[in-house]
Amino acid sequence: MQSRRPVVLITGGSRGIGAAVAQLAAARGHDVAITYRSEREAAEQVLAACRASGATAVACRGDVAVEADVVRLFDEAEAALGPVSHVVNNAGITGKSSRLEQASADTIRACIDINVLGAIWVAREAARRLSRGRGGPGGTIVNISSVAASLGSPNEYVWYAASKGAVDSLTTGLAKELAGEGIRVNAVSPGMTKTDIHERSTRDAGRLERLRPFIPLNRIGEPEEIAEAVLFLMSDAASYITGANIPVSGGR
Ligand code: NAP
Repeated sequence: MQSRRPVVLITGGSRGIGAAVAQLAAARGHDVAITYRSEREAAEQVLAACRASGATAVACRGDVAVEADVVRLFDEAEAALGPVSHVVNNAGITGKSSRLEQASADTIRACIDINVLGAIWVAREAARRLSRGRGGPGGTIVNISSVAASLGSPNEYVWYAASKGAVDSLTTGLAKELAGEGIRVNAVSPGMTKTDIHERSTRDAGRLERLRPFIPLNRIGEPEEIAEAVLFLMSDAASYITGANIPVSGGR
């Protein structure tokens, strides 16, 4: 079935920031494909919320770190909804927080595989399918980076900060590479945002409250506040913006 609403594919759309982006995109007139790795039930809840806004919505299971999975995720999304014109490169992890000297190879490798290689596989597939030079519809790519890229995250996860530095370079370079193909590429860099990542990936449940006093706006961000920036960059209101990186971090 071909969709007449613009189609957005959001990696890691089952929870947290990705789920908020999916629901706001649905409310703003998009059809939505979310991807997830393991939490089918959470993905189903996001789909129900998107459908309640009138969107056609599908969930596709796959690991963004696996090149073949990424190709299949796009294939499944397009089979269900028609050509994708917006891609939100969101799936990411931190790994258990520690000083670098204490971090295991498995922790570091998983983070780099998902946040860097995964983001690159997704961006490459988006470029192949959206590019007007290749017969695609044009559109936007929004990469979810982090203010960690500039803060460096000492004593917490410098490897994660480094992975987001790579996402920033990907954004800068790809924006220039695809500017003539009808694709705008931008990034949003969240600060401390209320999601499961702190407890489940970083494994530091007290982190948000401990670091709150260091946030100039003196509160933790909501996933919906990140989603607003993403939807702005996807929209025609941002038609002259490419290669930008918007911090949504309460001033941190
Ligand atoms: P989250 O609540 O932990 O959700 C992560 C999402 O990514 C889930 O949908 C998860 O799927 C999916 N995912 C994880 N690994 C995957 C993989 N290998 N393949 C496919 N999907 C995978 O995280 P979040 O806080 O929303 O973070 C989203 C993005 O924002 C990340 O890139 C993160 O680095 C960035 N960010 C977050 C914060 C923050 O404070 N929360 C700050 C700065 C940047 P399942 O549900 O199936 O597990």
